Amino acid sequence: MFTGIKQRFTQLIVVTIVLASCNSAEAPKQEVVDTTAQTSMEPAATSFPVSMVNNKKDPTCGMPVTAGISDTAHYKDKVIGFCSSGCKDEFKLAPEANIAAAELQ
Ligand SMILES: [Zn+2]
Repeated sequence: MFTGIKQRFTQLIVVTIVLASCNSAEAPKQEVVDTTAQTSMEPAATSFPVSMVNNKKDPTCGMPVTAGISDTAHYKDKVIGFCSSGCKDEFKLAPEANIAAAELQ
């Protein structure tokens, strides 16, 4: 009899642990929602017209500038548009090697 109660008690603990781990698994989901909120703010920062830049493509990721420019850099009297400041930062590390990919007009 006692062992039977003990087993049920153990099962109850296991169920509690599973429920607890389910709750903790939901926490990262909330972080994803936060990230989405930040991402949705990016288009608002996209305020550079395509006509302002001299490149056709983001030299870092290859994305066409018509998809949206959220950051620009000046390089050899040309204005280079980037989809993100992260792409600009990466371009600045090796502009000579990446400028061809920008397809300057
Ligand atoms: Zn990019």
